[in-house]
Amino acid sequence: MADDIRNHTLAELQEKFEALGLERYRAAQVYEWLYKKDAENFSDMANLPQKTREALRAHFSIEKISVQEIETSIDLTQKFLFKLKDDALIESVSIPARDRLTACLSTQVGCRFSCAFCASGALGFKRNLKPFEILAQYLAIRKNVPLHKITNVVFMGVGEPLDNYENLVKAIRIMNSDAGIRLGARKMTISTSGLPEGIEKLAKEGLQLELSVSLHAALDSKRSVVLPVNNKFPIGAVMVAVKKYIALTKRKVTFEYILLGGYNTSVEDAQALVELLRGLNVRVNLIPYNPSSSRIKFQPPAKSELLFFKSFLTKKGLDVTLRVPRGMDITAACGQLRSRAMQKG
Ligand code: SAH
Repeated sequence: MADDIRNHTLAELQEKFEALGLERYRAAQVYEWLYKKDAENFSDMANLPQKTREALRAHFSIEKISVQEIETSIDLTQKFLFKLKDDALIESVSIPARDRLTACLSTQVGCRFSCAFCASGALGFKRNLKPFEILAQYLAIRKNVPLHKITNVVFMGVGEPLDNYENLVKAIRIMNSDAGIRLGARKMTISTSGLPEGIEKLAKEGLQLELSVSLHAALDSKRSVVLPVNNKFPIGAVMVAVKKYIALTKRKVTFEYILLGGYNTSVEDAQALVELLRGLNVRVNLIPYNPSSSRIKFQPPAKSELLFFKSFLTKKGLDVTLRVPRGMDITAACGQLRSRAMQKG
């Protein structure tokens, strides 16, 4: 299979072009075509000499990812189901808000982590996405949105981003690059189930990324039921890595906490969370559970549980936000569209 040209950073392309006997500066032109002008093949790149285009065609590909389905919610959230060359299905979401448009991207075909609340884990793991397959989701969504503008990217789609570390960071560097998409690292959020090694590595990348850690319970006994990965990397190990991340990057880290009705919403749960996070530069993002075809059936939180939990944390001085569910009328939480399509197929 030919190497997709979008797998490479600008610096790598400059090297490769030179090795092929092409001028180095052509790499920036190609970048501009790919990431600013939506070129989908080498013949579109009008300012490249014919010979250069031929050389590129001989050494690189620009693979298409095909849109299988787009679902649009009444709140204008859109879910995209894409088919890759090997017929693998991935999904992405575009979430418009007043002054922003967030693209939620997948990083793997399936997921190894089997979180109890998640529709993706239930379907198993197939493979990592290549950098270009992560970028192609972004580019395909951008073509579809008003003013062609995506303001934020969250890696909260299917997969565990830090389990596909190298390809993810490559895609981020390409999005971040001045010659490419030019999306600020601060506008990109990596959500992880809590892989300490990946978190520590990320801290040293020199990127001002937003990090979100899926906590979902502050007690190991409860967290292990919801996230089996907690048996390997318990909360203590995750916290060591997060503290290093904060110390090195000086960034505020977000802890995601899905409120599972009757499971992790008690005074003890809230108190444990406060003790765990006290004094750290963090924020808590509370997320009402969205019932899905998950491994364990949980209940969404009652309004009273949600209000109690939020006010308890706030009173104890934590920075708390509540995620408003979007796209509830379409197959809402990430992984659900793919899951439904696979069950149909
Ligand atoms: N593997 C990564 C990224 C994918 S999950 C991680 O674990 O963080 C990203 C987020 O999707 C989860 O933290 C949670 O916020 C959300 N999510 C997934 N399934 C959900 C569900 N059924 N209800 C509510 N939120 C869900």
